[in-house]
This record gives sequence, structure tokens and C-alpha cells, in this order.
Amino acid sequence: MVTGASRGIGAAIACRLAEEGAGIAVNYHTNLDAATRVVETITAAGGAAFAIAGDVSQEDSAESVVNAASEHWGRIDILVNNAGITRDRLLLRMSLQDWDEVLDIDLRSAFLCTRKVMPQLIRRHAGRVINISSVVGIGGNPGQANYAAAKAGLIGFTKAVAREVASRNVTVNAVAPGFIDTGGMVDQLSDDARRQIMGRIPMGRFGSGAEVAEVVAFLASPRAGYITGQAITVDGGLIA
Ligand code: NAP
Repeated sequence: MVTGASRGIGAAIACRLAEEGAGIAVNYHTNLDAATRVVETITAAGGAAFAIAGDVSQEDSAESVVNAASEHWGRIDILVNNAGITRDRLLLRMSLQDWDEVLDIDLRSAFLCTRKVMPQLIRRHAGRVINISSVVGIGGNPGQANYAAAKAGLIGFTKAVAREVASRNVTVNAVAPGFIDTGGMVDQLSDDARRQIMGRIPMGRFGSGAEVAEVVAFLASPRAGYITGQAITVDGGLIA
């Protein structure tokens, strides 16, 4: 199950995990057309997927999404908490609504989905939870106090839950992307901001959704069986 998989990094993760043979629950919030395109891409490539609408920041709908995915596939083995938004403003201009929306969609959703999926992973002594954080949660970023707090919170959450469930052979890791050009968040930057950011990235380019998805696929695989509680940056050296 991949939350926020209708577009961007989530869509790339859904397609990559499908290539590995996973049946995918493509969660989205409002964009049915985009989610349907992801499902069609996966099925056209010989994979299996279905789309589930639901706002994963709300308890009832997060739980219904998990229930629908579990019922459709018989179980969930891998949960990718990817849904996220930004509401960028300098602290002095940030409203409580800007703060709450970002904390709810970027952090609370991961708590709600993970809490609901975890009993079945523990019962089977197998499972993967992968949280999509951000380098902003490690290094901060002006104008993103809400987002940085949510993404740093996601790393703390990852480490705490990883310790709780490690003895049950369930791993919990975070992936912290840098600037990823997926037509989503990075697209909203001005040309000037793009140039400035590019100048700070040692590799001199933005990353792709596929490059993030590759790390998620590794963490989800048996090859990463002894890795837990980590936050792995995928950022072209940005915070090296
Ligand atoms: P994006 O293109 O804006 O896509 C966001 C996705 O989240 C969409 O599928 C959207 O669904 C879904 N979503 C939003 N609110 C939701 C909710 N309440 N419930 C369920 N789904 C919801 O985002 P992106 O750039 O790919 O980013 C994906 C993740 O990577 C986010 O957590 C982001 O913080 C993180 N990240 C991104 C970058 C980057 O440079 N892009 C860097 C670091 C970290 P709809 O299509 O239905 O609206």
C-alpha cells in the first residue's frame, strides 16, 4: 500500500514495487484520473494494482483505506507512507491552519496508517514500513517550519517504531529525498529559486522519482532484512 500514489514520487514507488511483483494499493486523495493512470500503467506492464480514495490524515478514512487494501489483496506486506503536502510561509506569516494541515497530512497520516497495518505485520513476523521524509526534516529550510517539523517528526517516529517491532522481524525505515523533479513540489519553485537550489546540489541536478523509488524497492526487499530505524537520504549530496 502506497499513500499519495496518484502522482510524483508515490506514483514512481507504486510502479517500481509493482515491477518487483507486489500487488499495489494506489491511495490518492482527490485525483481519481491520475490514480487511474497509475493503475493503468502498472497493469499495462503486467503488474497488478487498484486505486483507493481516502484522506489518510483522518482516522476513519485512513483506517478504511487500510481495510480496503487488506481485503483486496488478502494482506498488506509493505506500507509506504508517502502522502504529503507543503504550505510554505515564513514563521511570522504561518497560520495555524498552514501548520495543522501539513502536520496532519505529512505526519499524522503515517501514525494512523502504520498503527492500523502493524498488527498484521507483527502477527506474520514479516513486514516493511517505509516513511517518505525529506532532507528538510534533517537540515531545516526557511519558509518550511511546518514541513520541517513534520518530516523530522517522521524520522523520530520511524526510529521509535523500528525499535518497538524489530524483534518481530518488521523493519521501519525512512527515505529522505532532496529536490526531486516530479512535476509536483519542485515545479512550484520560481526559475530563480530553481537556479539557486541547483547551485547547492553537489551533483548539479534534481533527482527523479525513479531514483527515490529504487531505494524504497531495496528497503522493501529481503535484501534489506537487517536494516531498520534508518533515514536514508537520496539528495545528490545536498546535505553531505
Ligand atoms: P505530489 O506530486 O504533490 O503528490 C502528492 C500525493 O499525495 C498525491 O498523490 C496526492 O493525492 C497525495 N495526497 C495529498 N494529500 C493527501 C491526503 N490527505 N490523503 C491521501 N493522499 C494525499 O508530491 P511529491 O512531490 O511526489 O512528494 C511525495 C512525498 O515525497 C511527500 O511526502 C513529500 O513531502 C516527499 N518529498 C518530496 C520531495 C520533492 O522534491 N518532490 C522532496 C522530499 C520529500 P491527489 O493526487 O489525490 O491530490
